[in-house]
Amino acid sequence: MDKFDDVDYWKGIILYGLNQATYKIALGKTLLELAEEGNDVVDWSQLSKVYLDNYIKRLKGTHLPQQNNPTRKTKMERIVDSLRKGKINYDTAVIQVGQEAFNDVIPRFQTIGTNKEIVGERFYHFDHCKKLYLHDPTFRIHEEFKQELFDELEARWSLLEGAFTIVHGDWQLSNDIRDIYLVNGYSRTNITHNIPFLQGYQGNTCFYCGEPIRDTDIHVDHVLPRQVIQHDEIWNLVLSHGICNLHKNDALVGKHYFEKLVARNENIMGSNHPWKKKIADALGSTPAKRAKSMWHHYENARIVLRNNYWENSPGYNRETDPFFKRLITKLNNP
Ligand SMILES: [Zn+2]
Repeated sequence: MDKFDDVDYWKGIILYGLNQATYKIALGKTLLELAEEGNDVVDWSQLSKVYLDNYIKRLKGTHLPQQNNPTRKTKMERIVDSLRKGKINYDTAVIQVGQEAFNDVIPRFQTIGTNKEIVGERFYHFDHCKKLYLHDPTFRIHEEFKQELFDELEARWSLLEGAFTIVHGDWQLSNDIRDIYLVNGYSRTNITHNIPFLQGYQGNTCFYCGEPIRDTDIHVDHVLPRQVIQHDEIWNLVLSHGICNLHKNDALVGKHYFEKLVARNENIMGSNHPWKKKIADALGSTPAKRAKSMWHHYENARIVLRNNYWENSPGYNRETDPFFKRLITKLNNP
């Protein structure tokens, strides 16, 4: 078998990775910077801090997309956005990075293409959420090839961003819209307590396919993806089957579903439920105003999600959907 140098393995990782996002490149930089600090045992918080600082620097000003899928943002982009908009402080950001950003990249970094055997644990091993242990080869390549390796990482990072930008649509506008929702939004709350309330206005049927739902399979779904609108307001929540929820994923629903959501919300407004007021505060005091603000949110989500539509649950037919035949729907949506 051929003998390779440590630096050959390193370049194999950096240049032949399956790069759907920039995580791996950022970790490469982080590892070299940690080697520069000279400690072979690294606290998880220090690892998180150096990694976060790399993204803060990278995402300064008008930055470019960090992953291939135009409808999503990477965990790191979301953390840095929250930090920049004052939703979280730096210490919280470091903790979030440590808990949420490394699940894939740390275990998978030492891979060439999809092969994990070749590199093994040449550069580090880790104790998840506790310590990272740098191995000698990491210090050696840092010592010998530092500038070349940093330059290569920089070039690779830019190359990926360029490639991602090509598949993304109106990146800046989409970013501005996400920022607005981020500032006005709030962190995830437990939404399952809304189930009995929603059942009353939706019936015990799935919002997307119209078939009955068993109690054991009720999911509360954000019609406009939470990833975009960043809140759990009741006007955007519906009940669905787990499988329908899964099919829809983070796509934008077809307009017929959104028309149904507008009608569903009018059913709530026609009641005397105290939550009426919350919907009126969020969307407006008249049916026309509420419909207008809802469609405004829909258009915003369309700009962010572009053509990532989810037309229909298999077999769904609006004409036969029992929701539209119900008395309360007819009464509240003349
Ligand atoms: Zn369903």
